[in-house]
Amino acid sequence: MDTEEAWTPEAEAAAVKEPPKIHRLEESVVNRIAAGEVIQRPVSAVKELVENSLDADATSINVVVKDGGLKLIQVSDDGHGIRYEDLPILCERHTTSKLSKYEDLQSIKSMGFRGEALASMTYVGHVTVTTITKGHLHGYRVSYRDGVMESEPKACAAVKGTQIMVENLFYNMIARRKTLQNSSDDYTKIVDLLSRMAIHHTNVSFSCRKHGAARADVHSIATSSRLDSIRTVYGVSVASNLVQLEASEYNDSSSFVFKMDGYVSNSNYVAKKTTMVLFVNDRLVECAPLKRAVEIVYAATFPKASKPFIYMSIVLPPEHVDVNVHPTKREVSLLNQELIVEKIQSAVELKLRQSNDSRTYKEQTVESSPSSPYNPSKDLHLNPSGSKLQKVPVNKMVRTDSSDPAGRLHAYVQSKPHTSVASGPNLSAVRSSVRQRRNLNETADLTSIQELIDDVDRNCHSGLLDIVRHCSFIGMADDVYALLQHNTHMYLANVVSLSKELMYQLVLRRFAHFNAIQLSDPAPLSELLMLALKEEDLDMENSENDDLKEKIAEMNTELLKQKAEMLEEYFCVKIDTRGNLSRLPIILDQYTPDMDRIPEFVLCLGNDVDWEDEKCCFQAIAAALGNFYAMHPPLLPNPSGEGLQCYKKRKPLKNPVDIERYPNDAGDNVENEDEIEHQLLAEAEAAWAQREWSIQHVLFPAMRLFLKPLNSMATNGTFVKVASLEKLYKIFERC
Ligand code: ADP
Ligand code: MG
Repeated sequence: MDTEEAWTPEAEAAAVKEPPKIHRLEESVVNRIAAGEVIQRPVSAVKELVENSLDADATSINVVVKDGGLKLIQVSDDGHGIRYEDLPILCERHTTSKLSKYEDLQSIKSMGFRGEALASMTYVGHVTVTTITKGHLHGYRVSYRDGVMESEPKACAAVKGTQIMVENLFYNMIARRKTLQNSSDDYTKIVDLLSRMAIHHTNVSFSCRKHGAARADVHSIATSSRLDSIRTVYGVSVASNLVQLEASEYNDSSSFVFKMDGYVSNSNYVAKKTTMVLFVNDRLVECAPLKRAVEIVYAATFPKASKPFIYMSIVLPPEHVDVNVHPTKREVSLLNQELIVEKIQSAVELKLRQSNDSRTYKEQTVESSPSSPYNPSKDLHLNPSGSKLQKVPVNKMVRTDSSDPAGRLHAYVQSKPHTSVASGPNLSAVRSSVRQRRNLNETADLTSIQELIDDVDRNCHSGLLDIVRHCSFIGMADDVYALLQHNTHMYLANVVSLSKELMYQLVLRRFAHFNAIQLSDPAPLSELLMLALKEEDLDMENSENDDLKEKIAEMNTELLKQKAEMLEEYFCVKIDTRGNLSRLPIILDQYTPDMDRIPEFVLCLGNDVDWEDEKCCFQAIAAALGNFYAMHPPLLPNPSGEGLQCYKKRKPLKNPVDIERYPNDAGDNVENEDEIEHQLLAEAEAAWAQREWSIQHVLFPAMRLFLKPLNSMATNGTFVKVASLEKLYKIFERC
């Protein structure tokens, strides 16, 4: 290979030549380029052909594919067929029966309207059409190339409808053919497409098979029920684990903003990847924000459960939908998207909570007969996914599935309605049955954990609970307070104390059933403790000498090593025999704590825990974890507020801790200063943005589901009702 010359301004100046001449491209080139855009892969051809069949009112559509679609794609339907006199222009670009003037686009119901698809196929493949229209005794067959008929249509015998055959796709696009030939997943993509189409268009029967294969890989029958079609296409294991879902929004004049109906999986469903089948006004599309929003609810509701299966059909007023986007652009953005996503998210959340509650109820009735012995089949009900949860390979920092077969239990117990009187005893009954299975005799620990949970339940403030469950998150008002709306009121809520309490409560409820965060580099406790002690010194401004600190660190390390077994078993905090911290619990899915706070956490374990009294001990450890995992403001000052000046030139950071952490920014390193500040600023911006995202998308959804706000939070400044408008304006100014 030639070695490339390095770029220099001189070289560029020399390379500037006369402007190149502009000329018109030959029509065949234009058409081929355009065709390559419309038909990107075999699956795009199948989609266009199937949509044409649907537009032709077909009730049965059969697809045959050879060699991933490169050799042959054949789509047969029983639709209205194509008129004989239209055949000559059928495959010309911009010929269509579906649109005549631009205004028609506003109300168009058909999937196609550009008259581009068939034409495109003739520029990149060989197309043969066989069709018959109503009232005729025979049909016609004709082949096309580059938009035109190869010969006159020939009369032939035909069954109702149209069959379109595309052979040797991309025969004239060598590079594309080569890349596609090597990929084996085109047929999978086609099967996936037809599966999705089939469960939406329930009045049409679909089939898809490989050429020469006796068995179809998709085979749906026209049915009146969506669930039936999901069962036929995706199987019983999916269909039997779905719950139905509806949501809608009307505006004042009672015209609708959107309507949605669909099915989503419950906690029994197991899958590694999300399947989201989304139709907007009957068009198959993708909408990443909506998918993400639903996934978050699942992650928050079933902490160890799988990714969801989602089918949704959204209907928007036609004038809200711009159908005139590029045909290959599947990702849509909707008008009123935020509102729609949020409404749907709450609907999913509510549904899952209800279905979880009803499972709890079932469990209670079983538990209420104390004489019944422990029944293994009931356990299947608790953990239907089977006990062999897969281990994920451990590299950098990974989440490993707990191998505990009862791992799923907490998801199930948590969302018990707090009003349930029976919740206490029932919970301990369930827990002790879990313990029995683990063959552990000691039950004392469970009593004390249960007492702590009862304390939380007893101290729950019902008014705040209602706010937490039904509020909408508006934004961060400052570094610590979030602005919330609940009914007609606005509240400021302290995210730090809320998240601290949430984490504490989750630790109690997940006691002994955590998934793990594996630390890539196990951290020596003694060093962590030294770091923490030094930092404490800076805060207190009284420095003990280093020898003393080392002694304290050493003693605490020994102490924690002694308690390692218990810390690991109950809290998933693993300390290895050499005194390294190597594992931490996942308290909330999708959330990793700020690792800069590990030293403080370890010191807190060493200093603040009373290891003698069991209940106090558990409480203190849970509190230490709560404090560690809480969503504190990042250590770097917030660059979007007054904190920005900390990143400005020549102004040393005010906070001595930051100077210690970023000594170059203290102002003495003038040369690199500018660069470093930019880096630091970028780092700070990322940290703050990440935190805000987590607050909105992880903390609040989880709080809605799990937090029992304490009575004290009504008066200690955790929740503040925003009384005056004036105050509110001030807040918005800062948002
Ligand atoms: P569009 O669907 O955008 O109109 P196409 O190139 O996909 O453009 O199809 C051109 C025309 O061919 C359609 O408007 C329709 O009238 C006709 N057509 C295509 N496929 C079928 C079919 N399976 N049954 C009946 N008519 C069809
Ligand atoms: Mg079409």
